[in-house]
Amino acid sequence: MTKIWHPFTQHGLGQTIPKITRAQDAILYTQDGREIIDGISSWWVQTHGHCHPQIVAAIQQQSAQLDQIIFAGWTHEPAQILADGLAEFLPKSLDHIFFSDSGSTAVEVALKMALGYWHNRGEQRHHILVMDHSYHGDTIGAMSVGARGVFNQAYGPLLFDVSAVPFPKPDAVQATLDALTAACRDPDNRPAAFIVEPLVLGAGGMLTYAPTILAEMRNICSAHDVLFIADEVMTGWGRTGTIFACEQAGIEPDILCMAKGLTGGVVPLAVTAATTPIFDAHYSPDRSKMFFHSSSFTANPIACAAANANLEIWRNQPVQKRIDHIVQRHAQFAEQLQRYDSTTNVRQCGTILVFEIADSHGHYMSTLGPELLRFFAEENVLLRPLGNTVYIMPPYCITDAQLSRIYTVVEAAIDEFA
Ligand code: PLP
Repeated sequence: MTKIWHPFTQHGLGQTIPKITRAQDAILYTQDGREIIDGISSWWVQTHGHCHPQIVAAIQQQSAQLDQIIFAGWTHEPAQILADGLAEFLPKSLDHIFFSDSGSTAVEVALKMALGYWHNRGEQRHHILVMDHSYHGDTIGAMSVGARGVFNQAYGPLLFDVSAVPFPKPDAVQATLDALTAACRDPDNRPAAFIVEPLVLGAGGMLTYAPTILAEMRNICSAHDVLFIADEVMTGWGRTGTIFACEQAGIEPDILCMAKGLTGGVVPLAVTAATTPIFDAHYSPDRSKMFFHSSSFTANPIACAAANANLEIWRNQPVQKRIDHIVQRHAQFAEQLQRYDSTTNVRQCGTILVFEIADSHGHYMSTLGPELLRFFAEENVLLRPLGNTVYIMPPYCITDAQLSRIYTVVEAAIDEFA
């Protein structure tokens, strides 16, 4: 039988890979008859739950009418409806929508937009500022602006140089702001842009920081004429308690990346939203100034229809109420987690609840990660710790009973492994 090569999976460990045959709401059904609670929204993508009937219907309808069309020089209604609809959810200044297919490509597009902006204005700025511990995806550009480590060691020579400011630890926020200011002011290497995950650094360890810090970082970039890119691929669509994390800081980035929850997490689609000045820098009778980026499935009509159904759900259903309920329940459970001697750094940002299990090898490659993963799977809960960092990020349709079950299993894991 031809072998399937799975992502972020060490096949040499001989783990069995469960087969999922069906999914509904927060439940995954396995081939061998088990029901698994999806505690991480299937890698942070699902928002309203699996196979949401409105999104399924939109996909069915659209796929029977217009499945795919080249988007260079051609357009279609689902894309225009989506662009108009996104205006209701995004800051007013982000009035240009560029489509792609994944979070990584949304980031690549953002970086190319920033570089194109300076190039077309006749300023040679190629340097990108990033934050330590960031993750922005797995393509070469996205890896270049992400943290370096075991994940990308083999590809190191291909990654471009960036300057990283330290993560704003609570006792060292000023150091981050000072480092950002100094990097923005560097006369020999004027940065094109600063890219950041707002409020929560996801794959880098679910590290959280305050909205006031995000706002200050935005101000520093504005003051020094450095473009500010918000990567909301994970934080977008409600995860942090508001539709976009930037809202909590009251900021408007120059460029915003979204993917995952854009279609409710059902089919791949991404957007890089940009301001008029960034679009205008590429607007010219001169063809050499156009934005040189595309992929075959840019703005696929079926994916756009799914995203339009997602927007309808946000407009017409009590999504915020569901989110607020999860936020409340997480807060109660966070208090319980604080009581354990063996848990550290319990933190919450909206629907994301995180803590570390004390472990002397506390990093991503710690053996605790796979052991916890196996433990949770045996308890019929899908949680995928990052090393000894355990996080819960459920779809918003999760029931009280399902959430309680996740909490119980997490406490059992603490008892077992701490
Ligand atoms: N940016 C952030 C903040 C992410 O969390 C991710 C994925 O988890 C990405 C980008 C890459 O998205 P994708 O996996 O869709 O390429």
